[in-house]
Amino acid sequence: MTLRLHDTATRTVRDFLPLTPGKAGLYLCGATVQAPPHIGHIRSGVSFDICVRWLRASGLEVTFCRNVTDIDDKILRAASAEGDQWWAVAERNQRAFTRAYDVLGCLPPDVEPRATGHVPEMIMLIRRLIESGHAYGAGGDVYFDVSSYPRYGALSGQRPEQMRAADDIEGEGAKRDPRDFALWKGRKSGEPSWETPWGPGRPGWHLECSAMATKYLGATFDIHGGGLDLLFPHHENEVAQSRAAGDGFARYWLHNGLVRLGGEKMSKSLGNSLLVDAMVTQVRPVELRYYLGQPHYRSDIEYSPEALAEAAAAYRRIEGFVVRASEAAGTVTGRTAAPGLPPASSLPAAFVAALDDDLAVPQALAVVHEAVTEGNTALAAGDQAGAVKQAESVRAMLAVLGLDPLAAPWATAGDSGLRDVVEALVSVALDQRQAARAREDYTAADAIRDQLHAAGIVVEDTPAGPRWELAR
Ligand SMILES: [Zn+2]
Repeated sequence: MTLRLHDTATRTVRDFLPLTPGKAGLYLCGATVQAPPHIGHIRSGVSFDICVRWLRASGLEVTFCRNVTDIDDKILRAASAEGDQWWAVAERNQRAFTRAYDVLGCLPPDVEPRATGHVPEMIMLIRRLIESGHAYGAGGDVYFDVSSYPRYGALSGQRPEQMRAADDIEGEGAKRDPRDFALWKGRKSGEPSWETPWGPGRPGWHLECSAMATKYLGATFDIHGGGLDLLFPHHENEVAQSRAAGDGFARYWLHNGLVRLGGEKMSKSLGNSLLVDAMVTQVRPVELRYYLGQPHYRSDIEYSPEALAEAAAAYRRIEGFVVRASEAAGTVTGRTAAPGLPPASSLPAAFVAALDDDLAVPQALAVVHEAVTEGNTALAAGDQAGAVKQAESVRAMLAVLGLDPLAAPWATAGDSGLRDVVEALVSVALDQRQAARAREDYTAADAIRDQLHAAGIVVEDTPAGPRWELAR
């Protein structure tokens, strides 16, 4: 194992040495379900899906936990604006997130805990913090005492005296220090609440993640991930309360870059046109995944339709080769075969080296594109065995990136059955076209090609005879 990962806590790329050899626990801050996801939200899901796939391909048994924050100020505000119940808003948007993760081919987490299902764990954590002198009750709320934890600010690299106040407006006056943040928020009228030894109320956002991560992954676990926008205050507060309570918490902190639009972080108002549900009607989901997954996970993405179109074209070039090589080998009926994750040892060394170097997807994709070029050269030269060899290698690499066009979810069993039927019908039409050409009736031959085109089928004449594909 030579995997190295950039750890935000040390600001260095470090050898990844799992807590338990052969295993890895990963916690990813998931959705706060107040609105459906735009591509800025789901980029994190794609980045960490590649991370999980690579850990597994490297032979590790991964436990992947991605939470859902289903109670929060923003959800309560959305519910009141929409005139709906908070739990209905949360449910509806959680479904939209699940749909988006699924449609982009992200593997489901091993566990997806919801905050409201973990109030007893949160109460236990608060109790430990109060008993150890790191938290205090005030005005019905419970706050974390930032001054009791000298390493506060270390994760995000800030000096305590320069830090802004915590975002708990209701606590003004009750807090001992403006930077203290709410572990528990006292009940307000019209809001949901749970009973605790400190009175009824609801959880603070940061506390939720600490309680859920340690419940499923242990007091100390390997990797904590999330978007760079969560580093402060969310992750700073998570690490402060967990370490103050005596837990080791995350050993590596990974942060993905953001998606920007016109130089700004994508917000709800900016991102409405880029909702995943809307985008997958304009671009194939696999192409959207390629677009979001192709940069280094730590780089920001500046969204533009041109860059998306370029990414789609790059993916289609890879896909075109894989499909042609499979057709040439007569294995196209194997479209439904899901190869699973190939072991890293079976992959090209340069591809392995790229992903081992802090998940460098751009360099890994360069190896894929090189293999595609070589495979296309082999196809053009009639070297079928050479083309098939390259295609197998390309498919194995794509499987690690979640992009194999001939595997689930991009080639589903249903599609494959339908494809066989279309294949049979198109070959009847192509036989008629060949017959028309043979008797030099080019008007009839062209009419057949035009009718196929009108039906969405593009015919290309190659030295090996006509081949077809669906128009895009
Ligand atoms: Zn979190």
